[in-house]
Amino acid sequence: MKIDQVSESVYVVAGTNVNWALVSDDRGVTLVDAGYPGDTGDVLKSVREIGHDLADVAAVLVTHAHLDHIGAIPTLVEQLGVPVYTGAEEVRHAKREYLQQITPVQMVQRLGTRRGIVWVAQTLRVCAGHIGMSVPTAQALDAEVLAGLPGGLIEVPTPGHTNGHTAYFMPGEGVLFSGDALVTGHPLLLETGLQLLPGFFNHDEPGTLASARGLGSVDADILVPGHGLPIRGDLARQLVEFAG
Ligand SMILES: [Zn+2]
Repeated sequence: MKIDQVSESVYVVAGTNVNWALVSDDRGVTLVDAGYPGDTGDVLKSVREIGHDLADVAAVLVTHAHLDHIGAIPTLVEQLGVPVYTGAEEVRHAKREYLQQITPVQMVQRLGTRRGIVWVAQTLRVCAGHIGMSVPTAQALDAEVLAGLPGGLIEVPTPGHTNGHTAYFMPGEGVLFSGDALVTGHPLLLETGLQLLPGFFNHDEPGTLASARGLGSVDADILVPGHGLPIRGDLARQLVEFAG
């Protein structure tokens, strides 16, 4: 685990090939995504390392309900009663009314490269025993609830990677949390920098690209992706270079 403070209130934590973020203010902590199940200990530890008690966690905002973004949620719900919010459509995915996620068998079939085999092994290790995880307590976001949470984030619908994928923007500090709508690195990608995840991860590839382009209209100074390092600067210009 590596914690990187990217603005006054925002800390990005690199876990097992995935990021989560902590938004801290005097109202407590909003957690954006929650790592793999195997990252649960580190998610809890990261809250303490930025100077908060676990009781300060006011909510978890989920970008999408893939296993690498919801891992610590059962513990946070069961031990602390933390509410969980995501986009209205993603609530159905979080409850596993349907599943838009690559299976372990598909992973092995499609990732026969050395790089792929290493990633699959790491992934299976941090998912072990939790492949069937769901988030039955997920609730649909509404603007009023969001405004009352630490950070005062707003919802940015970004369908594609999953039908209900939702990014978040913190206007006060110009931070965009893009989840997997737009990433800057991943063990399966050859290069770093703004890009989409490999196509087999995206439920709807054209939709993913359209949502990524749409993020160019968000007036962000700092991008915090679900995978890869945070980046700064003129996001709109960088997006044009990548997505046209
Ligand atoms: Zn992911």
